[in-house]
Amino acid sequence: MSSASMTSGEMTSGEMTSREACVARDLVDPLRAFRDRFVIPEGVIYLDGNSLGPMPRAAASILNHTIEKEWGQDLIRSWNSAGWFDMPARLGDRVGALIGAAPGQTLVCDTTSINLYKAIHAAIGLRPDRDVVIAEDESFPTDLYIIEGAMKSAGRPMQRRLIGSDGPSIEALIDRNVAVAVLSHVNYRTGELLDMAAITKRLHDAGALVVWDLCHSVGVVEIDFDRHAVDFAVGCTYKYLNSGPGAPAFISVAKAHQGTAQHPLSGWWGHAAPFAFDRDFRPDSGIKRFLCGTQPIISMRAVEAALDAMGRVEVTALRQKSLALTELFMSRVSALLPGLDIVTPRETSLRGSQVGIEFDKGFAVVQAMIERGVIGDFRAPDLMRFGFAPLYVRFEDVWDAAEILADCIKAEVWRDPRYNRKLEVT
Ligand SMILES: *Cc1c(COP(=O)(O)O)cnc(C)c1O
Repeated sequence: MSSASMTSGEMTSGEMTSREACVARDLVDPLRAFRDRFVIPEGVIYLDGNSLGPMPRAAASILNHTIEKEWGQDLIRSWNSAGWFDMPARLGDRVGALIGAAPGQTLVCDTTSINLYKAIHAAIGLRPDRDVVIAEDESFPTDLYIIEGAMKSAGRPMQRRLIGSDGPSIEALIDRNVAVAVLSHVNYRTGELLDMAAITKRLHDAGALVVWDLCHSVGVVEIDFDRHAVDFAVGCTYKYLNSGPGAPAFISVAKAHQGTAQHPLSGWWGHAAPFAFDRDFRPDSGIKRFLCGTQPIISMRAVEAALDAMGRVEVTALRQKSLALTELFMSRVSALLPGLDIVTPRETSLRGSQVGIEFDKGFAVVQAMIERGVIGDFRAPDLMRFGFAPLYVRFEDVWDAAEILADCIKAEVWRDPRYNRKLEVT
């Protein structure tokens, strides 16, 4: 089922009008057993899993085994005996299952930024007679910066068209000069969800390709990579997939492009025969051509631990609970603080799994909430962001978080200088 076909009726928070009702709802939550698979510190309501997911409980022992046994004892033999060498493709297929991509089209490797560079460069190369890249004004900055870099190294002059400043919508910017559009499935600030099916089709109708950035949708929104014939996708594993700080990202490339798509980081892991040690680069015929070099195996194991923690959970179930959590939060916040500016769409087909609230004293409010155990984050100039990860966030947490937010605003916490101190990472 696509997100667009989901109705809001079955998951309104209408019945959750008290804390007790939320607790009761948690008791019948089909996903409630997953919470125990993660370390959630005592007294913490964690609403920042859209930025860094919590640690899977099994991660420490799995990583310890990798370090002590595979690295410590088995040494270089582990490339074969522990399956280290195959991890990008093996884990890639598991991430592929979460985004509707059949096996053989996804790799876990490198970072989102690097994978964006590979995908954009490859897409530009597949459309040699076109010179336009569409991007979003409101894109996460690395996507914009990487687009600039990929355009400069394209080998021919390229132009950028920005949704927002160059035209009101993607519709207004599509023509037969467009090589590729690079789009965030869920906007990292507003939480707005784009219609992947319709936009991908529109681009294809104009002969253009698409790179979808799934950083804020993988693991919480249903995605149909194959059904919508998506060309390229990239995304993080450290957000809703909980693989840990700096964990390798993923890249998906449609089968149809794998024989012809070329990326510029032609390292030995992307060679058709890495251990032939040939002098000339000859790309692998399949998805592995999108590898570059040796991968961080210890971090790869954390991705594996995180995917194990998710087990066989259905993305549909994650999506349903996610929508119910965000709906509850928005309706509680609106009830407690009627004037507050919630920038996230109320319409279920238009939002991902986070809620953004614009408030000029938002920085101090988020700091005060953190002191009271509710961890969200702040994005300059004035956005408070709260992510609702259905694997471990409970309805009772949502109830409490809304109360604490309202308390902090009513108490005007920004008058206290200790909530205004800025650290390097917000
Ligand atoms: C989190 C995020 C990234 C992060 O990229 P890194 O290479 O991991 O630093 C990129 N794009 C979007 C849209 C993100 O939300």
